[in-house]
This record gives sequence, structure tokens and C-alpha cells, in this order.
Amino acid sequence: MRLSQLFTKTTKTAPADETSKNAILLMQAGFIHKEMAGVYTFLPLGLRVLENICAIVREEMDAIGGQELKLTTLQDAEIWKATGRWDDASVDVWFKTKLKNDTELGLGPTHEEPLVRAVQPFVKSYRDLPFLAYQIQTKFRNETRAKSGVMRGREFLMKDMYSFARTQEEHERLYEQVKQAYYRVYERLGVGEQTFLTFASGGMFSQYSHEFQTVTEAGEDTIYVDYDKKIAVNEEVYTDEVLAELGLSKDTLKQVRAAEVGNIFTLKDKFSKPLKLNFTDEQGKEQLVLMGCYGIGPSRLVGVITELLADDKGLVWPESIAPAKVYLARLGDENHVVEAADRLYSDLQSNGVEVLYDDRDTRPGEKFADADLMGIPYRVVISNKTVTANQYELKARTAPEVQLLGHAELLAALAVRSTNNIETSK
Ligand code: ATP
Ligand code: MG
Repeated sequence: MRLSQLFTKTTKTAPADETSKNAILLMQAGFIHKEMAGVYTFLPLGLRVLENICAIVREEMDAIGGQELKLTTLQDAEIWKATGRWDDASVDVWFKTKLKNDTELGLGPTHEEPLVRAVQPFVKSYRDLPFLAYQIQTKFRNETRAKSGVMRGREFLMKDMYSFARTQEEHERLYEQVKQAYYRVYERLGVGEQTFLTFASGGMFSQYSHEFQTVTEAGEDTIYVDYDKKIAVNEEVYTDEVLAELGLSKDTLKQVRAAEVGNIFTLKDKFSKPLKLNFTDEQGKEQLVLMGCYGIGPSRLVGVITELLADDKGLVWPESIAPAKVYLARLGDENHVVEAADRLYSDLQSNGVEVLYDDRDTRPGEKFADADLMGIPYRVVISNKTVTANQYELKARTAPEVQLLGHAELLAALAVRSTNNIETSK
């Protein structure tokens, strides 16, 4: 993409009504637009990051057999009444509305009920199970607090997967598979090191639920991490009893702030019972389907990754999700410079490298500042000086030094597919 054509612009001025670092930087870099508190538009560059995150999540869910679908945003009150979750006293984040004939509707805050109803016609016998179904969809929650930028939205993106199993053993196997897929997702997103499987309160059907918590001061949760064992305990279950059970000791746990980037739950028959999701087992007996649910917050992750990696110059994106791999800064508009830059732009693209081409008529300092603010992993400079020397200037976003490379060397350095993308997905 040519920056001269991109309709968004960067700004040095911090938005007056934002306190969270992620919202401030993402707005200054032109990645998001604030509609109102807790409601953000993803602009072209921000959308690329979000879509790249979703693509990784999708690949990992597909790899364990997840089947993607898309449920509706508009929710039929009746099905939620059947599970007791329509009442504001049980779910306090509903956005509710009405049809012209006064029929009540809601905007989906989560999707267990409609999914159970959608799969019901297909689940009859033990042969129809097990399976995993998921979607990546906008959720609506009337959150009381919306002070963490895109980390806590009233409208946000969620990947929600649900497992449907015949036996407890089968459920546990699926649950473990999803857990492992989650590790791969966070690893590929560049936050694997800082993200911990965290024991949290389990609700009614298992002793614990598992959260994936990424350590950051901007998080709203307090967790206790055992850095050797690479697990953590949420403060809500931080008791002597739980620690003893998990074989953890207060001496080796470190208290930190963290943001929940995923949550996996055993639901047992919580939904299959009231909604009558049954199957006939091999002995011809009616049984309830056993469910699990598994969430990841892609739009929250945009914020968490910003908080974690950004530095004093701006955003820093891991290659796997950056809006482009290379920021090509053309300094000057002499014919030979323009020609060389145009040529490299097309060479890189034909080698599968995504490029933000700064072909604008602005000062070098401004271009460098924008490359840094936008957090593009590599910056390549083409100027009269580099063209005359038959070289290119390459700098990684987080490296202090610049490298001078010839054309073939530069392509070799940049066209190599990110190992981050390929190796860890196996
Ligand atoms: P939290 O405890 O942060 O309020 P939750 O436990 O209600 O979240 P789930 O219902 O389990 O979250 O949602 C699954 C995932 O969706 C969460 O792990 C989180 O990453 C993301 N998520 C939840 N609420 C929001 C929100 N308001 N804005 C952005 N992402 C969210
Ligand atoms: Mg939670």
C-alpha cells in the first residue's frame, strides 16, 4: 500500500479523552477511531492487525478440527429464557431491543444458547458426536467499566468455540486439545512468553476454569505466577487449599497484573439439559451432550500486544500480525530515486512481502517517526545516497543499528517467511 493513498494519517497529539496507552497509541498511529467509550472502529491498518490475529486463531482452531460458522447477533429472548439467562439479574451486560411488534430481542453477549439450538437438528445418535464448532464474531456487552481502550469494549470481537462430547473422558480429551491449540496461538502472536495458563474459579461444573493471562500492568486482573512451572493462579482462587492442591507454594509465586486473553470452561450439561440436547448412546439410551466453551478476544489482544511491546517511539508489532512487514521510506523525488523505490516496492510484493510504501513528499524525520509509530517490523530507506552506492538501508524496528545491503541480500533478508509463522504451527 502506498502511504500517499492511505486516507488515515498519524498525529503527534494524544487524544484528550483517553487514558489507556493502547488506545492513545493506536489512535495516534491511525489504527483505530473512537466512536464512543468502549466502542472503536478499526481503520485499515488496525484492521490488518486484527485480521492477522484472527487468521492465526482460525488456523489453529481448524487444525484441531474446529468447524467455523457464524451465529446471529440478534438474539431470540425465548431461548435465553429457557436457560434463565435472559434476566438482567443473571446476565447484567445485555443490550436489549425490540421488534416493531414489541417482541423482545437482545444483542448476543455470548452464544451458547443459539448454538445449541442450531446444532440440535443434527445431533441424534452417538455417531453424530463429538465435534468442535466455533465462530469469530462481534459480541455486545454493556460493560460498566470501559477504561482500557480496546482491551475492554462494549462491542468487541470474540472467537468462541464450543465442544460437544459423549462422555466425560471425550470431553477432557477435546478440552486438552483446545488448551494446546491456545498455547500455539499465543506463541504465534508473540506473547507466548508472557502468557500463563491460570487457574480460576470454575463455575458450577468443574473445580477450575482455565484462563490464559498475559502479564501486563495494563491488565485488570491480579494473578500469582510460578515462572518455573509456567502456571498461575487467579487471586479469586488464591487460597492455601488451592495452592496445596496444585502443588504450588507462596514462596515461588509472584504477584503480577495481567489481562485475560482467553478462557476455557467445562460446561458439562449446563446448556444441554435445559435445552434438551440429547443423543442416543450405543446401548440405545438417551444421554445429555457434554459441552465445553473456549473464548479468545482478538480485539482485546490488539490492545494487550500494544501494551506489552510498544516503546517510547510507538507501536511494535510481531511480524506474524504486523499490518505490513516492511516500511519502505523513499527520501527525495529525483527520478532515479523514485524509480529505484518503485522497483523495490514491486519486487518485494512479488516475493510475497507486504510493504507500506512511503512515497509521500514529506521530510525524512517524519517518515522515520511514522515508521516507528506504526510499529512496522522493518524499515528500508532508499535515497540518493543509497542509490548511488547501489545499496539499501535496512533497520529492524527494535534494533538500534542500520544495515547496508545489496539488492539480492535485501530480498534474501526480507523474503524469508517468518519462522514464527511456520514452525510453531506444527
Ligand atoms: P473479563 O473477565 O475480562 O470480563 P470474561 O471472563 O467475561 O472477560 P469471556 O466471556 O470468557 O470473558 O470471553 C472470552 C474472551 O473474550 C476473554 O478471555 C477476553 O479475551 C475477551 N473479552 C471478554 N470481554 C471483553 C471485552 N469487554 N472487550 C474485549 N474483549 C473481551
Ligand atoms: Mg474472566
